[in-house]
Amino acid sequence: MAQPRIIPRAEHPISRRDISENALKVLYRLKDAGYRACLVGGGVRDLLLGVEPKDFDVATDASPEEVNELFRNARLIGRRFRLAHVRFGRDIIEVSTFRADLSGVDDDETDDDARLLDDSGRILRDNVYGSIEEDARRRDFTVNGLYYDIADFSIHDFVDGMADVDARQLRLIGDPETRYREDPVRLLRAVRIAVKLGLEIEPATEAPLYELGELLADVPPARLFDEVLKVLMTPDGVTAFRKLRHYGLFGPLFPETEAALAGAAGEAGLQIIENAIANTGKRIVEGRPVTPAFLYAALLWPAVRAAAEAREAEGMPAAPALATAQREVIAAQVQRVMLPKRFSVPMREIWQLQPRFHKRRGKQPARLMSHPRFRAAYDFLLLRAEAGEEPAELAQWWTDIQEQPGAPAPPPAAPSGRRRRRRGRRGGRGRKRDDG
Ligand code: ATP
Ligand code: MG
Repeated sequence: MAQPRIIPRAEHPISRRDISENALKVLYRLKDAGYRACLVGGGVRDLLLGVEPKDFDVATDASPEEVNELFRNARLIGRRFRLAHVRFGRDIIEVSTFRADLSGVDDDETDDDARLLDDSGRILRDNVYGSIEEDARRRDFTVNGLYYDIADFSIHDFVDGMADVDARQLRLIGDPETRYREDPVRLLRAVRIAVKLGLEIEPATEAPLYELGELLADVPPARLFDEVLKVLMTPDGVTAFRKLRHYGLFGPLFPETEAALAGAAGEAGLQIIENAIANTGKRIVEGRPVTPAFLYAALLWPAVRAAAEAREAEGMPAAPALATAQREVIAAQVQRVMLPKRFSVPMREIWQLQPRFHKRRGKQPARLMSHPRFRAAYDFLLLRAEAGEEPAELAQWWTDIQEQPGAPAPPPAAPSGRRRRRRGRRGGRGRKRDDG
């Protein structure tokens, strides 16, 4: 085993005070039971760079079964790579056992991969476990491969990660192209982590980003759904989005949108997408709720518009053209990036409500405002108006009407009929009390 660089406590800034109580509990319980226990990954990286970590991951030489026996609140997850989740209310500490490089045999790979012994699942799994150094080398970026050891609070560096932390540089461990091919999601992780932390991508790590985007077409769509949200639903999402396009990594994820952005309505489409990402990021910073449905409504809108125009050019009336376009775009998109029904349903509602903003007569506005998806659809209308796709006057009208005290609409939550009846029954008593 090569000698790691060991950085003693006095020579690095990570203090136990920066580590969550739950992570410390897990680390100490493992250590006290005689196991090696380290903080690893994004938590160590973020603390070294002065950023508050999103979560803390623990790595240990205890097997998942041993971890499971040590914690009442542990649960084993994963089919091939077993991990333990130690649960404290809503907080989960992920505990993984040191293991050797098995990249390329994750998830859906077949069992006859050359690097695996071909016998039985049990032999396969026993061979997964490895030394702490092997565990470091199978990780993606050097800054993600640092171990904070709870035994003496030192950092163990097998991959020259500290030098890259100091240089604020993102560098893949090993040969970059090989590592990207092993797992193309690393292409997206490179952009996400660099943007999030303001790191420079080291040239040899950066160069393949321009070349290898098509590899993303082979990544399971469900995994890409998570990664797309992680990269775009963040305060720096717009920067990340622009970088993805710069490297040619957006097209493989959203081929029809990318094609539409090159077309006639591309400029407006781009503005809608960037503003949707920016609004989402702003809401995250403000602690307000966000939903992938709204983001995806924007991400796919240029493709929907282009497809609807194509249908109309063939002579289809506007309404069915739009409906058909939506179905087509979603069907093609989920081949690349999955979109769960609980998000695609409200996304379609946001789209389908758009033409109704043109109906401003009689009871139509009140009816639209009482729709459960009105607020999101209105926010989407604002994006479209900002991009020049709808008149500013139309958006302003809908803004004003919501602010008018005598607006013809009931609050969005309650359908008008039910609300009126209730007021009739209970309102009387309320008013009497007010009077008296
Ligand atoms: P963050 O939690 O801020 O999103 P992270 O680096 O912690 O960033 P996780 O997905 O939590 O990301 O992964 C934890 C660690 O697991 C990483 O730091 C890295 O060491 C390792 N890892 C994650 N994904 C990969 C991958 N695709 N290839 C190799 N190692 C990975
Ligand atoms: Mg993490």
